[in-house]
Amino acid sequence: MKFLGAHVSASGGVYNAPINATAIGANAFALFTKNQRRWDAKPLDDLTIRKFKANCAKGGFTADQILPHDSYLINLGHPETENLEKSRAAFLDEMQRCEQLGLKYLNFHPGSHLRKIDEATCLSLIAASINGVLAQTQGVIAVIECTAGQGSNLGWHFDQLAAIIEQVDDKSRVGVCLDTCHMFAAGYDLRTEAACEATFADFSQTIGFEHLYGMHLNDSKGALNSRLDRHHSLGKGEIGLDCFRWLMQDQRFDGIPLVLETIEPEIWADEIQMLRRFELGEGA
Ligand SMILES: [Zn+2]
Ligand SMILES: [Zn+2]
Repeated sequence: MKFLGAHVSASGGVYNAPINATAIGANAFALFTKNQRRWDAKPLDDLTIRKFKANCAKGGFTADQILPHDSYLINLGHPETENLEKSRAAFLDEMQRCEQLGLKYLNFHPGSHLRKIDEATCLSLIAASINGVLAQTQGVIAVIECTAGQGSNLGWHFDQLAAIIEQVDDKSRVGVCLDTCHMFAAGYDLRTEAACEATFADFSQTIGFEHLYGMHLNDSKGALNSRLDRHHSLGKGEIGLDCFRWLMQDQRFDGIPLVLETIEPEIWADEIQMLRRFELGEGA
């Protein structure tokens, strides 16, 4: 069974996210547990936590179906100590919010070297950041998102993700989220069934499906290997629908949140219905 949803709004309170997910026929969702463009956030109060849990239960969402995303400001591989510490503190707060909400995953972008340190040093800083935060929390899995490799962002190559995981002490609490737009922009072809088979065989060998905890389903405005993080609606970009049909037919993607971050929220319900038809082996 596929867990399909979208990154829904949590405006007004995190407890609105499961309601917004139900409204589009989703059985999974992503959300920000705080304003993603700000460093500071008000702590979650008991009533908010209770309402979130109650709305998730009402919508039939378990922690396996929810993939929270952290703030865009955090850089766990920041080359400067002061900013690195600030990022680590903010990431710890994000993990603790997930703990409080009874969530299982926290999806985040690995980090950027900002052309001030080399790649290997930056990857080690990211791993050290993850180790520090895992030691101070319980239960929540650190889910590293693959990136498009835009600018100095790391984590676009499977080898880079593998290098981070390799340096994390508790392998049971680290994994990845694959974003199809980012993968494609980073040079992993997904346009045909054969291309998908080859790309995921590479993934299986380099990282392994036991570390796959979620996916972001997006088409790409940018071309293969463009290194541009530009999402598009399914079937309207450079990747095309064959990739999503293939994903829906493969059981290795069952049981993890598969989340749309496509650019037209008004058609998310239609996109989910189309993916359901693909899962059943029907046409678009
Ligand atoms: Zn992301
Ligand atoms: Zn994404």
